[in-house]
Amino acid sequence: MQIADKKVVSIHYTLTNGEGEVIDSSRDAEPLVYLHGAQNIIPGLEAALVGKAVGDELEVSIEPADAYGEYNAEMTQVVPREMFEGVDELEAGMEFQAETAQGVQVIRIAAVDGDQITIDGNHPLAGVKLHFAVNVTEVREATEDELTHGHVHGAGCDH
Ligand code: ZN
Repeated sequence: MQIADKKVVSIHYTLTNGEGEVIDSSRDAEPLVYLHGAQNIIPGLEAALVGKAVGDELEVSIEPADAYGEYNAEMTQVVPREMFEGVDELEAGMEFQAETAQGVQVIRIAAVDGDQITIDGNHPLAGVKLHFAVNVTEVREATEDELTHGHVHGAGCDH
């Protein structure tokens, strides 16, 4: 069975950045299982998997535009420390969830300078070219429920 829309696909992957550093990997854990054609994974990886089958291995490099987007400097902002009421220690790298006009967004602290806190709403991998080494481990038909919901059901699904 080949990977196409409405298939449930399991992959093992190693994700590295341009410097060859491993950012993420499924290899010591369960494979990543996703519903193909439902935008469950980044567009560049989904496109590269079309037509692949169990046992196939591929290496793919994905430009930021087809991954987590370009880095947008306008998504950084300097805010006063009072914005983080109740948090004693503020450090670069900390993440918070914030309500925004676009829904809940993860905001990362980019820098702390006294009472001036620089926050960054970019995805941590925005602007990063990604390299995936992927093995396809399973391909099956999606169930009606999965197609209706737009995601995979199984271990870890809460309904
Ligand atoms: Zn569901």
